[in-house]
Amino acid sequence: MRYYSTVDKHHIVSLQQAVLKGLAPEQGLYMPEQIKRLPKEFFDSMATLTFQEIGMRVATQLIGEDVPANDLEQMVKHTIQFDAPLVEVEENIFSLELFHGPTLAFKDFGARFLSGLLAYFSGRQNKEIVILVATSGDTGSAVANGFYNVPGTKVVVLYPSGKVSDIQEKQFTTLGGNIKALEVDGTFDDCQRMVKFAFSDEELNQQIFLTSANSINIARLIPQSFYYFYAFAQLKDRKNPVVVSVPSGNFGNLTAGLIAKAMGLPIHKFIAATNINNVVPKFFSSEVFTPQPSVSTISNAMDVGNPSNFPRMYDLYRNDFNLLSNDVVSYYFSDEETKSAMREVYHTSNYVMDPHGAVGYLGLKKYLKDHKNETGIFLETAHPAKFKEVVEETLNTNIALPQRLEEFMSGAKRSIKISSKYQDFKSLLPTLIT
Ligand SMILES: *Cc1c(COP(=O)(O)O)cnc(C)c1O
Repeated sequence: MRYYSTVDKHHIVSLQQAVLKGLAPEQGLYMPEQIKRLPKEFFDSMATLTFQEIGMRVATQLIGEDVPANDLEQMVKHTIQFDAPLVEVEENIFSLELFHGPTLAFKDFGARFLSGLLAYFSGRQNKEIVILVATSGDTGSAVANGFYNVPGTKVVVLYPSGKVSDIQEKQFTTLGGNIKALEVDGTFDDCQRMVKFAFSDEELNQQIFLTSANSINIARLIPQSFYYFYAFAQLKDRKNPVVVSVPSGNFGNLTAGLIAKAMGLPIHKFIAATNINNVVPKFFSSEVFTPQPSVSTISNAMDVGNPSNFPRMYDLYRNDFNLLSNDVVSYYFSDEETKSAMREVYHTSNYVMDPHGAVGYLGLKKYLKDHKNETGIFLETAHPAKFKEVVEETLNTNIALPQRLEEFMSGAKRSIKISSKYQDFKSLLPTLIT
């Protein structure tokens, strides 16, 4: 399969190049030339397959031409080491729990698959790979943990100082070894901008083999499509149309869902739910895409003012507004609405949602109000304990930290403070990786 750039359709590369480079020239994003539908036989037998088997079928369909089956199977198995159960929260409303991985958020799937694929490709060249990642919280921890001690790789995490939770910060600042954390005096958008600059900086790229682990890397998206199929496979009753609500920030997760749909998964509608960082909901109501500075909210992993996967999502629909609007509706919600949803679901169903999942839940409820006979799934993207303070305060209860998180909390934070000036970052970088 070949991959083209969203900026220049004639810029075409192999999977290896797309994965190693992460970003195409001039901020382009790589897209597969073709997304083939899975056969009917797969959909008929889906309910009898394991999560790993489903992952393998989907991965083979997407990249089976580029990676030998044995290697691909190893990557899929390494990625799917934990379940993604579909839990009924209310009648016809299900939570797809994507937080059972090592860092308790859905980004574990993408990070683990990417580390497998990069290790496979780096084995074919003898240069150390430096993975740059800007994070608003969860990406950094998932990538740091997915790559920790992976030979031939170094990870540099840039995060906005004081704008990620203690638990998130501990998960990428305490590992040491091949993981370096840069604490940026600025916002997430500053971090993302510095990473983007670094990739287009020719001088730097001649010195260092840089690659990206942000959701702009196509390898992050591929495994995220697995669990949409798996969610569908777990539904007992598929008589009614199925809709999926995706709490979104950079829109990688939603794009992966739309890829699953393009492969034939019968999802009737997707709901793109955001917090008040509402650039995409505004686009759906106005047809105008206007990036904004990001605003802090309690669902901070979605505090994104210029969603980096938006061009990819739109490209999937040939930049046709009507086509995209047929498949996706979009809403946004305030922190107050998010908290009341968390309280309501806790009191009526005894189910604890994290603030991100709660935004997804709200999107679903809003849509289902006018579409009664549909079955709804929302993605629960993080374990509530990852956002312990706000969840405890909102629900007025104690949330136990899972063992894995306890271990991180006892480690010592090691980070390097830096300004949000690109030049400062550029001069520091070579000293980090020797
Ligand atoms: C990253 C993240 C999101 C947003 O996902 P995108 O793919 O960036 O839209 C939502 N919830 C949590 C918990 C996250 O970590």
